[in-house]
Amino acid sequence: MHIVQRKKHEVGIMTENTTDWLDAAAVQTVLQNATEDAGRIRELLAKARELKGLSLEEVAVLSRVESPELVQELFDAARYVKEEIYGRRMVLFAPLYISNICANDCVYCAFRSTNKNISRSALGMEQIQRETSELVEQGHKRLLLVAGESYPASRGGFQYVLDAIAAVYQVTEKRGNIRRLNVNVAPLEVEQYRQLLEAGIGTYQIFQETYHRETYAAVHLSGKKRDFDYRVSALDRAMQAGIEDVGMGVLFGLHDWRFELLSLMQHIGHLEQTFGVGCHTISVPRMEPAQGAPMSEQPPAAVSDDEFRKIVAILRVAVPYTGIIMSTRESAQMRRDTYALGVSQVSAGSRTNPGGYTEGEAATGQFQLGDHRSLEEVVQELSNLAYLPSFCTACYRLGRTGQDFMDLAKPGLIRQKCDPNAVTTFQEYLIDFASSSTRAAGEQAIACELQRMDPKACRASEKMLNKILAGKRDVYC
Ligand code: SAM
Ligand code: SF4
Repeated sequence: MHIVQRKKHEVGIMTENTTDWLDAAAVQTVLQNATEDAGRIRELLAKARELKGLSLEEVAVLSRVESPELVQELFDAARYVKEEIYGRRMVLFAPLYISNICANDCVYCAFRSTNKNISRSALGMEQIQRETSELVEQGHKRLLLVAGESYPASRGGFQYVLDAIAAVYQVTEKRGNIRRLNVNVAPLEVEQYRQLLEAGIGTYQIFQETYHRETYAAVHLSGKKRDFDYRVSALDRAMQAGIEDVGMGVLFGLHDWRFELLSLMQHIGHLEQTFGVGCHTISVPRMEPAQGAPMSEQPPAAVSDDEFRKIVAILRVAVPYTGIIMSTRESAQMRRDTYALGVSQVSAGSRTNPGGYTEGEAATGQFQLGDHRSLEEVVQELSNLAYLPSFCTACYRLGRTGQDFMDLAKPGLIRQKCDPNAVTTFQEYLIDFASSSTRAAGEQAIACELQRMDPKACRASEKMLNKILAGKRDVYC
């Protein structure tokens, strides 16, 4: 059974959905007033090391950092915050694209409705299960279900997504199953979010793409996605439905990254104020070339590699307890650079065409990928870099979500859970799926981790590790 214990299913707070919290004029004003003042920047970086996060104005000042010396100090602070909160852990997952049929015309995406040059499909339940089996056999425990915005009427419309979730969770192979399925689908009504929650999803994720209304209108040419307010209020509805772990993101390249970063901060602030907890994860997709989407070849506000590294570091110090997700859009080198700057979750071995895991990678995925390495190759590299790959799904399965998660995370108590769970789920992976060279590198990483841990976490880890070595599986605390 995919859900072992869920202690909460209560319906979230009901609020009136307005988007007044999004204040572009305020963002412009703080940005105009922010300058690269070395003294102030150092003061803010010292504050960031207290792990309490930063305000809108403070993030604006950090976004002005240009001098190499100060950039390095920003990176050092980000690395400090990351190691204090997340240690060396890196959670792994893969996206599962179930459909590339879409009624929207987003000018940057290969799935846009007007692109006649890709073959369209919405996978059937058996195909979804075959894809899931393939991912389970690679060693994955955590997936992100992704779909274009148009669910086949012949399969019950939105019911198709719910059936797909059930189909994924039903797959049980000898070597394991999917223990947490996150979802990235277009905005829904409160009742539909409730159904997603009941179906047992982990995080509900949606990217605003751009918080700049004019740009948003210019790049979303037709379909429901044209409605900016409906999209920007989607996470309110998800939280009203009781989904506590929500994920945000911006598609970098559409509009000025500083404006986007500050608007994202406003969005997080709004959720914190309304629901007591902000977002669980932030994704940082950067626009990549996509077939049939000429804009993607030359993004109107392209973000350079230097700026991209800064974005990750600023987010890390600004919202220290929020996970940062790095996808395979980025090259292996860029992913490596950002691990140290604050990333806590990475995808690996990804395919963005429906059926891609069983039928092979198509030239017509959603966009061009920068990292084509397998899960095992990514795991081996992480181990060699002294990171600790983690396949943990414990929090969601124990109902440690939303406020409960933050209550443990903020005083630093969550590491007593995360570190042992990372070690045991990784050991499980190494025994069940890894080649001998990966296993050797991984066990070395585990040994280093045990030495770094405090005695209590180390004892808990060793107890759980012994169970794994004795043949028990799915051990967590
Ligand atoms: N169709 C739904 C939607 O738009 O919300 C679900 C997910 S969509 C398949 C996933 C995300 O891919 C989008 O939110 C967008 O940020 C990103 N994306 C689209 N085109 C991209 C491109 N050319 N490069 C990088 N990311 C892209
Ligand atoms: Fe459709 Fe999403 Fe692509 Fe837009 S980004 S065309 S909504 S799949």
